[in-house]
Amino acid sequence: MKIHHLNCMSFRRFAVLEVTHVLLLETQDGLILIDSGLGLGDFSQPGWAEWLVLQLDGIAATPAETPIRQIAALGFDPRDVHDIVPTHLHLDHIGGACDFPWAKIHVWEAEIQAGLRPAGWLGTFSYFPARWKNHPGLTSYSMGKERWFELEAIPVIERADVEIWLVPLVGHSPGACGVAIKGKNGWLWHCGDAYVRQIQVDPFKPGNAFPWLTRGLEDSMFPVTAREKIRKILAVHGDQIEAMCSHDPEFFLHSKNSSHIPTPFAGSPPVDL
Ligand SMILES: [Zn+2]
Repeated sequence: MKIHHLNCMSFRRFAVLEVTHVLLLETQDGLILIDSGLGLGDFSQPGWAEWLVLQLDGIAATPAETPIRQIAALGFDPRDVHDIVPTHLHLDHIGGACDFPWAKIHVWEAEIQAGLRPAGWLGTFSYFPARWKNHPGLTSYSMGKERWFELEAIPVIERADVEIWLVPLVGHSPGACGVAIKGKNGWLWHCGDAYVRQIQVDPFKPGNAFPWLTRGLEDSMFPVTAREKIRKILAVHGDQIEAMCSHDPEFFLHSKNSSHIPTPFAGSPPVDL
């Protein structure tokens, strides 16, 4: 199994250019997307609210960043994308799934329910259920008794060369999950928007994502519970797990070399920021 690192939506936060880090898994049984950035429809037919959000985010994305365009540019057939596992259903994580109507989308039921009835301003301007609620492949999972390390979790894909779990990291959204991917020698854990900079989940010396923000303000913007959950797991199992998030530009650039990732996660085409 090979992992390709894609940036599927550039945008600006506090004047800094950020990325939306999507993983394309090249497995023996086809392609799997972890998150999906924006889709072609978000550019060609945005609803008024989507348009407004994209303008307010100072969006710097282009249709060339959509996964379907990048997958074709890499020489793959987009029809080989059989599965999509989003960390949550906010637009910048599920929009691209609309371009793969034949794929199965694996989602924890709590996130589907939250997305169908958006609450508060963050929900209203982050979920656009019309984009995904009628997707033929949308598949809902309820929580069972399984555990991923010490955490309750849902196994969603098991193939010869890859295993994928949804691990709830509630906070940024009511059904947000980290997507844990197992290769031959270790785990890569895509934690979506549970945090925004690697320093926040350092198990021993955590720091602020934005040093000029007070800790209190930062914690109110990026909920702390999920981050603490991640730090605790990394403190004990950090030798087996690499955690990552969606919007850290430095980590994305680092990932393109793949040198930091356990050996099974080899290969990564360059993606220009
Ligand atoms: Zn996001």
